[in-house]
Amino acid sequence: MSYVDQVIEEVIAKNPAEPEFHQAVREVLESLRVVVEANEEQYKKDALLERLVNPERQFKFRVPWVDDNGQVHVNTGYRVQFNSAIGPYKGGLRLHPSVNLGIIKFLGFEQIFKNSLTGLPIGGGKGGSDFDPKGKSDREIMAFCQSFMTELCKYIGADTDVPAGDIGTGAREIGYMFGQYKRIRGLYEGVLTGKGLSYGGSLVRTEATGYGLLYLTDEMLKCNGKSLEGATVAVSGAGNVAIYATEKAQQLGAKVVTCSDSTGWIYDKDGIDVALLKEVKEVKRARLTEYAAARPSAEYHEGKGVWTIPCDVALPCATQNELDLEDAKTLVANGCFAVAEGANMPTTMEATEYLQENGILFAPGKAANAGGVATSALEMSQNSERLSWSFEEVDSKLKNIMVNIFHNLDDAAKRYGMEGNYVAGANIAGFEKVVDAMNAQGIV
Ligand code: NDP
Repeated sequence: MSYVDQVIEEVIAKNPAEPEFHQAVREVLESLRVVVEANEEQYKKDALLERLVNPERQFKFRVPWVDDNGQVHVNTGYRVQFNSAIGPYKGGLRLHPSVNLGIIKFLGFEQIFKNSLTGLPIGGGKGGSDFDPKGKSDREIMAFCQSFMTELCKYIGADTDVPAGDIGTGAREIGYMFGQYKRIRGLYEGVLTGKGLSYGGSLVRTEATGYGLLYLTDEMLKCNGKSLEGATVAVSGAGNVAIYATEKAQQLGAKVVTCSDSTGWIYDKDGIDVALLKEVKEVKRARLTEYAAARPSAEYHEGKGVWTIPCDVALPCATQNELDLEDAKTLVANGCFAVAEGANMPTTMEATEYLQENGILFAPGKAANAGGVATSALEMSQNSERLSWSFEEVDSKLKNIMVNIFHNLDDAAKRYGMEGNYVAGANIAGFEKVVDAMNAQGIV
């Protein structure tokens, strides 16, 4: 049995009931097969892949909090510190009822390669809780965040592990967590990113993932003789990534005709009105039915359906495994020529393979959505310098980073004879730097 297959089998046997983690490991190791085979003897002797797929450490803790009626609730908190070969652990905190150790490990594992691809000195980590912020009062959110940070603060720090936002963790939650960290540790330091501008946040962080996704997509299309100008784009999600992806796509001349949330989706034939979407989602925190009610050109549908709308470019920006094989077939049949992942692992493996086999340009999330973490790293730099850079300065650094990421993965794919396979290219380019650092640092 090959070394890659052996390690995949071990991961499945040692981590039962973590299907998302198995999926992420399989996806990464499969595309690294050529690199591993070229160095198999040495990697095996050094147990390199075993060290890569086992987190350096993982924390699981109780998070008790009291609701507005005096009822006590207990959630589970997680922080997985996956790999610190190239810098302090960095990765978001997800607050969603679906969160479990397997999901945090899949996200933390992917984060290693994504962070490496940015070219910035950040290792891989991820955390979160099965707490559901939906429908909670501000006071309940604060009670949860303070309790969560009371435990988490023992394991993180500006030079060790710097969490950020993710699904369910926005500016409000980061603020409450930062306040509690400062209060307990007595340190005013850049321990979290995604902070408000008045206390150490970076301009462009809010827009970064969505804008970055479009900078990379734009470069990928240009290098393949296509353009966003005049293209019809389907976006899923209606959260942070989806909103700013829509905004930048429109600025680059595309027409975005869809968005969605966990209950339904919108088809707006005149193009999504971003200001209205922001009002509904960021200000009112309401459902998409409110968008449809305020916009005559929009149709609202219950359930899932964004990928049935004919488009040139598809940008899944909601959550994992939201674009499956059936969706991929529909996209191809409708003439779509590019898919770029704004969310983490939104496309199933079968769907990814189908898209690639059918000549669709496919940019994987670990490259395409790296703009968020890259700008988080820029926030860390500003905090260390105790300076704030202008919007234009951060935005232009973000754009350079995304364009470089595309060329790095394009080059890596070409070097291994897989031209145009950006999934393999992203994994290889991210992996090479981490392996180089791991080898230099010995068996740790
Ligand atoms: P948000 O919480 O702001 O938005 C998530 C959106 O996806 C919401 O519209 C939500 O709907 C929808 N959604 C969530 N779960 C489902 C589901 N099961 N089915 C359909 N829709 C769903 O999160 P973000 O925009 O920040 O993150 C989106 C994705 O991008 C995630 O995979 C995240 O890990 C990834 N990402 C985010 C980064 C960032 O900087 N924000 C950086 C890199 C990756 P509803 O409102 O109903 O919950």
